[in-house]
Amino acid sequence: MRSGLECGYGRKSGASKRGGVIMASVTLEHEINPWEAQAARFDFAARKLNLDEGLWKVLRYPSREIIVHFPVSMDDGRIEVFTGFRVQHSQARGPGKGGIRYTPDVNLDEVRALASWMTWKCAVVNIPFGGAKGGVICDPKKMSMGELERMTRRYTAEIIEFLGPEKDVPAPDVNTNEQVMAWIMDTYSMHMRQTVTSVVTGKPINIGGSRGRREATGRGVSVICDQALKYLRIQRDGCRVIVQGFGNVGSNAAHLLQEKGYRIIGVVEYDGALYNPNGIDVGALMEYRQRNGSVLGFKEAEAADSDEIFTSECEILIPAATENVITSRNAERIRAKIVCEGANGPTTAVADEILTQKNVFVIPDILANAGGVTASYFEWVQDRQGYFWKESLVIEQLEAILSESFDAVMRYSETHGVNNRIAAYMLAIDRVAFTIKQRGLYA
Ligand code: GLU
Repeated sequence: MRSGLECGYGRKSGASKRGGVIMASVTLEHEINPWEAQAARFDFAARKLNLDEGLWKVLRYPSREIIVHFPVSMDDGRIEVFTGFRVQHSQARGPGKGGIRYTPDVNLDEVRALASWMTWKCAVVNIPFGGAKGGVICDPKKMSMGELERMTRRYTAEIIEFLGPEKDVPAPDVNTNEQVMAWIMDTYSMHMRQTVTSVVTGKPINIGGSRGRREATGRGVSVICDQALKYLRIQRDGCRVIVQGFGNVGSNAAHLLQEKGYRIIGVVEYDGALYNPNGIDVGALMEYRQRNGSVLGFKEAEAADSDEIFTSECEILIPAATENVITSRNAERIRAKIVCEGANGPTTAVADEILTQKNVFVIPDILANAGGVTASYFEWVQDRQGYFWKESLVIEQLEAILSESFDAVMRYSETHGVNNRIAAYMLAIDRVAFTIKQRGLYA
């Protein structure tokens, strides 16, 4: 599996790289395990860097994994027991940082992978955080607000000694939002006997949230698309974009891209897709989805088959929903020039290899979606300063950090002859390893 990660974008690769051995030996179940996906790329990048064996062992696994089983009173009087996770992969460069997701199938391997990705992501954009991630196994769509609030508060209380502005700072992720962050902040503050806004980011603006945080991941995706077009010398006006996932990241990315002159020709959602070769009015679609809970039935675009739209010809494909949407099953059929990963882990390691062979320019999640955590960093800074920035300052600083990070990844890719994903991992691992060496080991 590792050998396939070798070839850099634009370099000719031997056909044997994607030979039967690699492909046949990887079952789909193995291929879509996010921890395996993370570990395969980490190992490859670490080997390229000639990483010291000891540091390799330190960074390959998370430093702390917390599992909690806790009771919650449901509206009908029943007691339900939920399982929650918080994994802290590294705190070498600063407090752990990373979201909390509420999904029925979240598991330890997924949270481990996501926590590691946060370490690499924060290092790629060079902000002073380590990596962490959390999750609770639940189906928020089937829960009332009261149940969600009680579950959130009890989960927070269960892991409270591991949280804190200087220890580990959660944020929103799949199915969590500003309201959930407000409950976490309040629960933590009640225990501390004082208001501590900087314990979470992605809060509502009136209680310590940052202007621009809500759109920041989508904005980051749009900035990275601009950079990629410049790098590849592709014209921006009319540039065709297909977005998969129309939640916070996908819808904001599409909206901002449209404002800049890109043409959003396709939107793919879990329950169907929309297509309009002349461009979909993203603002109108956002309002429509808000009102109807789905993009389906939107009149100014044709209803279409999701798989067909996902593999349609375009300049940029933005997977902005969940992991494992580009796999060995469809990678061969992708017809985008650029894949810009708004979600975490949307491309499997096997699919990476196929895309590289097809010369698709993949901008990895740990760079492409780093706008969210970068704005989270600004929020944490503002909370600690007690001084709040104008939105224009947030946007300006965000654009500066992401453009610089894009350039740094491209330099690594060119210097080491590796694809963008491996270049981003190498840059990140280099930074984290350097810090660990500099700090030295305690004891
Ligand atoms: N959940 C987001 C991510 O995966 C944001 C994390 C944060 O802001 O801490 O990057």
